[in-house]
Amino acid sequence: MSDTPHSPPSAFTSDNPLLQAWQTPFQTPPFGEFAPEHFLPAFEQAFADHAAEIAAITHDPSAPDFANTVTALERSGKLLAKVSAVFDGLVSAHSNPALLEIDKDVSLRMARHWNPIMMNAVLFGRIAQIHENRASLGLTAEQSRLVERIYIRFHRAGAGLDEAAKARMAEINERLAQLGTTFSHNLLGDEQAWFLELGEDDLDGLPDSFVAAARAAAEERGLAGKAVVTTSRSSVEPFLKSSRRRDLREKVYKAFTARGDNGNAHDNNAVIPEILALREERAKLLGYPTFAAYRFEDSMARTPEAARNLLERVWKPARERALADRDALQDLIAKEGGNFALAPWDWRYYAEKLRQIRADFDDDAIKPYLTLEGMIAAAFDCAHRLFGLTFSERKDVPVWHPDVRVWEVKDAAGRHQALFYGDYFARASKRSGAWMTSLRDQQKLDGDVAPQIVNVCNFTKGSEGEPALLSPDDARTLFHEFGHGLHGMLSNVTYPSLSGTSVFTDFVELPSQLYEHWQEQPQVLQQFARHYQTGEPLPDDLLRRFLAARQFNQGFATVEFVASALMDLEFHSQPASAVRDVGAFERAELEKIGMPAEIAMRHRPTQFGHIFSGDHYAAGYYSYMWSEVMDADAFGAFEEAGDIFDPATAKRLHDDIYSSGGSRDPEEAYVAFRGRKPEADALLRRRGLLETPQAA
Ligand SMILES: [Zn+2]
Repeated sequence: MSDTPHSPPSAFTSDNPLLQAWQTPFQTPPFGEFAPEHFLPAFEQAFADHAAEIAAITHDPSAPDFANTVTALERSGKLLAKVSAVFDGLVSAHSNPALLEIDKDVSLRMARHWNPIMMNAVLFGRIAQIHENRASLGLTAEQSRLVERIYIRFHRAGAGLDEAAKARMAEINERLAQLGTTFSHNLLGDEQAWFLELGEDDLDGLPDSFVAAARAAAEERGLAGKAVVTTSRSSVEPFLKSSRRRDLREKVYKAFTARGDNGNAHDNNAVIPEILALREERAKLLGYPTFAAYRFEDSMARTPEAARNLLERVWKPARERALADRDALQDLIAKEGGNFALAPWDWRYYAEKLRQIRADFDDDAIKPYLTLEGMIAAAFDCAHRLFGLTFSERKDVPVWHPDVRVWEVKDAAGRHQALFYGDYFARASKRSGAWMTSLRDQQKLDGDVAPQIVNVCNFTKGSEGEPALLSPDDARTLFHEFGHGLHGMLSNVTYPSLSGTSVFTDFVELPSQLYEHWQEQPQVLQQFARHYQTGEPLPDDLLRRFLAARQFNQGFATVEFVASALMDLEFHSQPASAVRDVGAFERAELEKIGMPAEIAMRHRPTQFGHIFSGDHYAAGYYSYMWSEVMDADAFGAFEEAGDIFDPATAKRLHDDIYSSGGSRDPEEAYVAFRGRKPEADALLRRRGLLETPQAA
């Protein structure tokens, strides 16, 4: 790449669709026009533009003020945001080998572009001066919050350090970026290398939907006509739940929990101590005793102790419930004449049997009522009843794949509010999981900019002419991602860096997890869960059993989550020198908390991508539960009002939570909505962990 010119020649620029004004409805990206070779030149141009904008701020001879520094900074980097949104969107939802190759290059270039900006002494000097005088500048509440956020962001990036420390920070950042990529590539390597081929007599107990997916997975691996179990969670969990073959369950379980820990070329055991040592060194350069202390300063929880207190409060009843369930599962094995101790690979299988006995409910019974169309309509209808939004499908907006659908979203007064893209079906070019992202964020800095929001899921398409049917988990995921989507669509802030989901990690799951509550309300299901063949509504009896079954096995689910969250806190609170041997550290910590031997952590260290593929969730995995305390408590406000669409409560929810983005302190926003701080009891009640164990 040494002969790449710093700025591409303008003749090329004019040909590059990423660098042109888009003549499409709502100025959306013209996806049909992009080719992989457009991206690097577009990034080059975007980096150059951004660097020039930053230089204009730092070379400004006039004294720093809000307009010439903070506003100018908020206006900078528009092209970079635009190119990144399209590129990141394609890499995750519709990639190809060429894009993935470019991605490796882009992540390093991105670190090299941002390091000198975030550590620019002149820029930081101007920001610090404004921050120092902020009380006397006549700023609005949002402007004042913005100054505070920008100051903290630069301070935490090392902008205030001396030159030697900055140079070391830059080295650490680049090395951490590489190690994060190594960690995820290792994990992917182990995941791609292992699969279990199923013969015709290995299918005992497996539902048709699983076998169909296993055949598709075999075909992708060049084994047409065969069926395979892979190490993806969506393959492993249903297999462990339904396979009657104990020997195969053991094989699959062991392969799944050994990812990254196989002593082969993809082993992550050496990567983890180096990541932890570098994170600790970075925290110490900035004056914090541990990475956890550094990380928590910029969170709603504020201290590692606050997060640990919550996790421990949940751990005790969850563990007790899990131990009681373990005994019940062992009894079931004995009743069936089994002469073996319950092992980790047995838990899901016997738990599913026990659920069918206790709750008389099986996920497959409800699936015919949960059509994708019905659940999309339900999610839209709830948004209409809560926030007055209406949705109309548009066929004229360019998309990245023919399965992607687009809706125009209007507010209660009929004004354009947002565009919403739904990309629901699994395909080989899409990474696993489900997520929300944006092609453009809301802001009002230079006139109203309406957001363009994307939901991506991995649901299974209906077979030949049949509609797509969702499992209860899928339906919940659809509402979850749509809740994130609403956080982006309803955003009503002036400054781009405070828009929508630009909030603390331990607050960001509140709008999404809260929205899940509406999906499981009887009045919503009665209206939108209709049999795909007969159109009959969900029978009351099935609905009742479905809702009752939701609390089943919550001891297990809570234990596997909380154990991972506590492990994450320990990794980042103890001195990095304590983690020379990852396996020994893991065993010692699990023993300390009394982890039941029959349950594995949701993510063992060598496969814990949330905390080791990048920094975002490092010492932050507790965030899901922190947000859950709020979502369970927040939904209580509607229950107390006696109406799940109560207009006054919905208006507060809109004003204080869904529309305010990062423009307010999150605790203050929550208290404004709820009238008090959140209480953890609602979470324990929702998970069924407040009653005595036998009541399940
Ligand atoms: Zn989420």
